[in-house]
Amino acid sequence: MNKGNAYYIELEDKFGAHNYHPLPAVLEKGDGVYVWDVEGKKYFDFLSAYSAVNQGHCHPRIINKLKEQAEKLTLTSRAFYNNVLGEYEEFVAGYFGYDKVLPMNTGVEAVETALKLCRKWAYEVKKLPENEAQIVVVKDNFHGRTLSVVSFSSDPDSYGGYGPFLPGFKTIEYNDMEAMEAAIKQPNVAGVMIEPIQGEAGVIVPQEGYLSNIRKWCTEQNVLFIADEVQTGIARTGRMLACDHENVRPDILILGKALSGGVLPVSAVLADDEIMLCIQPGQHGSTYGGNPLSCAVAMEALKVVTDENLVDNAEKMGQLFRERMRNIKSELVTDVRGKGLLNAIDIQPFGNGKTAYDVCLLLRDNGLLAKQTHTHTIRFAPPLVITESQIHECADIIERTIMGLTP
Ligand code: PLP
Repeated sequence: MNKGNAYYIELEDKFGAHNYHPLPAVLEKGDGVYVWDVEGKKYFDFLSAYSAVNQGHCHPRIINKLKEQAEKLTLTSRAFYNNVLGEYEEFVAGYFGYDKVLPMNTGVEAVETALKLCRKWAYEVKKLPENEAQIVVVKDNFHGRTLSVVSFSSDPDSYGGYGPFLPGFKTIEYNDMEAMEAAIKQPNVAGVMIEPIQGEAGVIVPQEGYLSNIRKWCTEQNVLFIADEVQTGIARTGRMLACDHENVRPDILILGKALSGGVLPVSAVLADDEIMLCIQPGQHGSTYGGNPLSCAVAMEALKVVTDENLVDNAEKMGQLFRERMRNIKSELVTDVRGKGLLNAIDIQPFGNGKTAYDVCLLLRDNGLLAKQTHTHTIRFAPPLVITESQIHECADIIERTIMGLTP
């Protein structure tokens, strides 16, 4: 049997749950900004596994670390100490400037951890009445897929059919300063959790001053500012953290995805002692959280970000990319936005029923993989190791594809 793209797609369709709708390209190899499908076709990866592969596919330094540690020790659970966790904790706490880190695996687990930590702090330090703590969240948020997290989603696909939902969250409009100020001043508010740039919502960048005002109001009201930087963190937006664009330091920082360079699920919650020490032994944990394999990989992945100046490269290449997108002379492109290498364009409905998904299919045919978010937005988020000539090559592909559709 010929094992081409169609073979693998059919297998997944037949034996896998239908909880995703992937673009039809079956990948078998990755290197830097490139991926290859099972039929040998080469693509630029402009999704980077939703910003998990910031360091590029199969980065040799990270893969070597993975192999080296995998041959020694992979998992002890937290029932015992291991000789990598402490050094990782020291490294990552220093890297982001917090007293302590709590290691988890997936992004949503870190979000759950942050929410639990915020509630604990609210009762133990802020002294809110038991079971009354409220956390302010915003519309069109995406923080993952667990029941508590979809309890405050505004996307019916995410929450529909999964009730009853967890109480204790108050949803307001994103990027609405007045609503935010008023919400923070309500009684029993323990924290505010936001994505500094909304990724899944379509790379929605808030107005300048949004983050710094939230920081100010949170400080004034003794409310914790929780930043979910699972997608925006680790150099993606041209700063180490997207909050750095406004020189804002969150009280609780949530990281995931690129923390391992796309090699393993590694996530983390960072906070200072006053907050972090509210959780005591036995009150939270994870069998795999803080395993030596993840710790070794994550340390190397962060060192690569520094050694290869990925913050600067994301900033420069992002500016170039947006400039090229803004120069596309087509009425189909109605907006270009983003920061660093987290960007999106909006595609005007063609009137012929075609959507951003159809553009993504054509981009795939032309050698570039990108993913639509919602009906008319395409997110462009290549690995941060992309070079200037590669940005031009990719911008040429996107321009050619869009001009081919322009009447
Ligand atoms: N938070 C944000 C901002 C995300 O973008 C995502 C995933 O896209 C998550 C949390 C959830 O991460 P994971 O899929 O690793 O659970």
